[in-house]
Formats: sequence, C-alpha cells, structure tokens
Amino acid sequence: MVEQTSPKWLILDGYEDEPAAFGVPPYVGFHIRYLCGVLEQANIDYDYLTIDQWRELVRTNGDEWARNRLSNIEGFACIAGAVVPGRYLRGTPLSLKETRNIIQELPAHVPALFGGWAIRGWRQQGWTPLRKNLFLAVQDTDATLHTYIQTGEWKHTRRNAEQWTQWAQAGALSKAVTDHPDLGTEEKRGPLTYEVEVYQGCVRYKRGCKFCIEPKKGIPIWRTPEDIIEEVRRAHDAGVQHVRLGGMTDTYTYMAEGVQELEYPVPNPEPIARLLHGLRNDDRLGILHTDNGNPSIIAENIEESEEITKTLVETLSDGAVLSFGLESADPSVHEANWLNCDPAQLKSAIRLINKYGSGRGERGLPKLLPGLNFIAGLNGESEATYQLNLDLLHEIRREGLLLRRINIRQVEGEGFQDIPQKQFNMFKTNVRDTIDGPLLEELFPMGEILSDVHWETHDGRTRLIAHQNEKHTAESCRGKAGITFGRQIGAYPILIGVEYHIPLESQSNVVITGHGARSITGVEINLDHERMTQKQLEAIPGIGEKTAWKLITQRAKQKRKVRDEPAFENVEAWFKAASVDWNDEHSVYFKS
Ligand code: SF4
Repeated sequence: MVEQTSPKWLILDGYEDEPAAFGVPPYVGFHIRYLCGVLEQANIDYDYLTIDQWRELVRTNGDEWARNRLSNIEGFACIAGAVVPGRYLRGTPLSLKETRNIIQELPAHVPALFGGWAIRGWRQQGWTPLRKNLFLAVQDTDATLHTYIQTGEWKHTRRNAEQWTQWAQAGALSKAVTDHPDLGTEEKRGPLTYEVEVYQGCVRYKRGCKFCIEPKKGIPIWRTPEDIIEEVRRAHDAGVQHVRLGGMTDTYTYMAEGVQELEYPVPNPEPIARLLHGLRNDDRLGILHTDNGNPSIIAENIEESEEITKTLVETLSDGAVLSFGLESADPSVHEANWLNCDPAQLKSAIRLINKYGSGRGERGLPKLLPGLNFIAGLNGESEATYQLNLDLLHEIRREGLLLRRINIRQVEGEGFQDIPQKQFNMFKTNVRDTIDGPLLEELFPMGEILSDVHWETHDGRTRLIAHQNEKHTAESCRGKAGITFGRQIGAYPILIGVEYHIPLESQSNVVITGHGARSITGVEINLDHERMTQKQLEAIPGIGEKTAWKLITQRAKQKRKVRDEPAFENVEAWFKAASVDWNDEHSVYFKS
C-alpha cells in the first residue's frame, strides 16, 4: 500500500449490508462509491481503504501511526452500514467501538463525516458523539459531503436525479473499485462483485408492511436502464467482472405501470429486459444476479411476470435467488402488519419461478429459485403462528417445489411483540431438519459438479490476514493437510468445504461428496495422478487412509525406478500396481 505524501481525504469503507444493498467483500457497495464519486467529480484527491485494511495497518504499525495518519488528512468520510456487525467469511464491518476510537483519534481540525444505516441505528440507540467538525448524515451521505465541499458547512442534504447519475458513474471508476482488495489484477482476477443500485423505494409506499422502512421513502424513483448500463460499462473499464442488481425491493416492479393508482401495479417486462440484455451484451460481464421479488405482484400479474421470469432465466447466471418476503403464514399477523402477500399468492409465485428456473445452468446450479423470508416478533403472532408457517413449508415441499434459502429473522424492541420462545425454537429446528436438510440434498445432489468455486479460507470459516500470504496462496500448499472453504461467485452461495488445502484465491471445479447443515463437502475433479497427495486421495469417497497410503507408496517406488518418466501411464495402472480395486465412479476425480 502506498504511503500518502500530501494531505488527501480518507474514505473508509465500513461496509453496508442490507437485503437490497450488499457491501461486505467480495461486494463493493454503491453508497461508498457515490462518496468517492463526489470527490472524483470535484477533483479532490483521496485514499480509499476498507475497514479490514485499516485494521491491519493499525495492527502492524501501531496506534501512534494511526494517530499520525488521521492527523495528516484533509478530511474523513465513512459509510458504516451493518447495525449489528455479524460474522462474514471475507470481511468484518466497522463496529461502534471502532467508530468511537477513530473519532477519538481524529484531530478537531479534520472535517469528519459518517453515514449509513449503522450510524442511524447507533444514534437511535442513544449514541451521541461530541466533537467539533463531526457530522452524522441522516439523509444522503454523498450529497451531504457535496454540500460541505461547496459551502464549507455541514447540512443534511438529499441528492437529486442528476447527481445520482453523476456520482454513480464517477464512482464506477473511483478508487472504491480500482483500489478494492478484491478486484485482483488482470492476470489474477479477484471475486469483486459490483452492487448496482437500480431504484429506491417500494410500490407499497402508501400502505406498506408496518415494520419496513421502504414506504417512508415515498413513491419509488427508478434509474433508467441506459443510466445503469453506462455505469456498469465504466465499472468494466475499471476491471469489474461480476455484478449484482441491488437496491430493488422487487425485481418485477422495476418501472411498473400504475404505481400510484393500483394496489398491485402491473409489471413492465420491457425496461427490465432492456436492462438485463443491455448488461449481458458486454462480453466483460461475468456473474449477473439480482435479488428480491414481491410474490403478490407476481401472483396478481401472472402473464407479465411470466415474461419477466423468462428474461431473468435467460440473462442471469445460474444460482440466482429471488427472495420473497412472506414474513408469516398467519392471517392474523398478515392483517395486523399489512403484510405483502398471503400463502396462496406465495405458492403461485413459487410455482412460476420453479417452472422456468429449476433447471440447472452451466455452473451446476438451478438457474433461478425463490428464497423465503420469515420474521418472528411481529404483532398478532401467537403460538399457532409457527405451526401455520411450518404447514405452509410442508405444503410447498409436498408439491415438489424448490426453495433455495429459508431465512428466519427475529425482530425485537419497540413496535414488536415478545416471541413465544419454545414454539419459535421448535419451528427453527423443524425447518432445519425437515425442510432445509432434504432441500440441500436435492439442490446439491451427490455427484453433481459445481464449477468455478473461489477458494477463500483454510481451516476455518473466516478469512484471516495470514490467508493472503504465500503460504496459503502458492501452488506449494496444494494437497496439504487441512480444510479449504470456498464459494461460487454470486448472491447467497453455498459454502463448500474440501478436506485438503487448495491455494486460496484460486478457482476450481468440485464434485459434491457430502452435506452438512448449511454447507456441502466436495473434492476437485481432474486431479493429476502423478502429483496428487495422500490427503487428496483420502478425500475421495471410498478411498480411506490405508488405501491412500498404499497408492502413495507404490507411486514413490515406481518413481524411483523410472526417474523423470511418468510413474504410471494412467490412474488405472497405478491402482492395479498397488492392488487397489478400480471403481469407475472414481474417474471423475482424475485427469484422463
Ligand atoms: S413489500 Fe417489502 S419493501 Fe415493500 S413495504 Fe413490504 S417489506 Fe417493505
């Protein structure tokens, strides 16, 4: 990392993470890019650092270095968007404690701006930092920074449509992308996934689900397909490959008709097709995913929704998920909270997505499947609610319909009610055992090949700084003892574990060999029988430790005889020489 020479602004990416705004690596969020876009447009020099990079710099250089670094800047701006920073595989969002430390170390003459949902959430929980020249944005952080740059005054500001386009497009080429640690190099591309904002708000803005903040944003405002395509084109120029369409409360109501007049606006297949095909027309695009869908809109407008579903299946990468917010199957909860859809609408939407999306795509995954969200703690809930939820899930499964992901979230505090803990826990256990488990085996069957798995950690489910060292990334670690975890690029990827080391930040293809609770195990295909290790052999089902040892010993013996020549002409000859029965099912693991 280049040490700074003259004072610049420092932009710290504390990561955002909302259902419609992913920003924890490998994602780069849009709000942090807009902040950088403001500086780009104003020709102000700045550095971009992720919170993980900042932590590492402070860890290696010490607190004194951090104080000096923060004293030697023109200004500081940060997005913190994960209210309760959870555990992520590839990055850890900025916490309140870390925010406090940074504010404490920032000298009073340095203007400092913080924005994002975490900042708002912490304020609501009573956090009131006192410091001169510190501003906590409650509207658009980018627009607030722009106002400060223009006037020297801190003032809550909203961006207008023109600024939205300008900062989005400038942000696409900004350091939030070019200096992002997950971008990689031209020779070795990283897994960076560019979250792009398509629109703001929800079509249920007049009478939306009571627990949701989206209706407060008023009538939805859309970006045009051309504007988004141009932004992504610039991001490709900066080296981006993978894109997720975020900022959508419902993919089907993008530019829908009758938003102001109708309870169920009519989906408009044309603009979403223009957007998706426009993005696909650029050869540089790798994985393309989207997110949320509104099942009631789909169910009430089947014809238009069918057309959109076909476009999604045609243009998105396989493994795409449409998260449906049912929240509860209980009619009392539905009524008390003005919920989005009822079980009948939900089932008809799930049927439609399954009809077109359940076939497998080129990476081995179902092309497009619905996800389902439940919320516990909503008003009107009773002990019976959880049985109704479970009954509905069983009905869906009895019909043979697939769901990619069931998300059960608890809400608590003002405006919510206490959760009957015993029934709730039973519901969760039941879902895990009777729904999630069988679904996982159906979605990821034994023997299926999954391609382009990006390897991310060794021996644990959190990526450590050490994992970026050669010890973990060089070819020399391949096949050594340990476990490697990785995921395919895209939204909600399944975690895949392999029982030997694979160089991190590389990609390969695996065969599914087992299922965990929320993960699967696999073994790479096309392993080289001349070089593979004992651990790689042991990972193959049916080859135990003893057999692997026998094979390795036999190969070593043969190698001593033939020296520079291949020890065995093919893998079958190797097995034969070691008196190990060959099984045709083994073929997939070995290079032919
Ligand atoms: S449909 Fe979704 S985005 Fe709209 S109000 Fe309900 S929960 Fe919020």
